[in-house]
Amino acid sequence: MAALAGLPAVRFLGAPDESGGPAYSAAPDVVVLSPAALKLETCQLAFLIGHEIAHIARRHFDEDAVALSVFSGRPAHWTDRGEDALRLAEGNMGLALRVSHLWQQQEHEADWVGALLAAQACGCSIENGALAYFRHDDESGGGIAAAHAPSAERMRQLLPFSESAQRLTERAPR
Ligand SMILES: [Zn+2]
Repeated sequence: MAALAGLPAVRFLGAPDESGGPAYSAAPDVVVLSPAALKLETCQLAFLIGHEIAHIARRHFDEDAVALSVFSGRPAHWTDRGEDALRLAEGNMGLALRVSHLWQQQEHEADWVGALLAAQACGCSIENGALAYFRHDDESGGGIAAAHAPSAERMRQLLPFSESAQRLTERAPR
């Protein structure tokens, strides 16, 4: 999936518990998976990993750093670390509101890019990957993170991509 997304490599780390959610990514090339995530069915896990790889490949952490810097009146390149920039938004509701459209856009993008990566790399349909994951996620009562839209909304937004995913599953290595 990393190669499909144009990344030279991705490093995988295991989280000790579920406190950071099932999965998250860290700049520049790390995907962290929780113990519960590792127990998911193959296509659900493929979608989850695809979603995080999409964040890395699209360099959303850079986008966050620039947007938060500009909206908080700092020079655009005062830091190149997304984590530093994200810290600006902690406890700053006004700033968080100003960049929330960007976060929603990033999550939507990570969902559909991740679903298509899972389709082409692992032969997973949207139904078996993303939609199954969101159903499971809904039952367990938690979301990936508060920044994400409710599961039903994310499922609805993925439906236009199911045909493309179906075509890509045929390209998956068997
Ligand atoms: Zn995400």
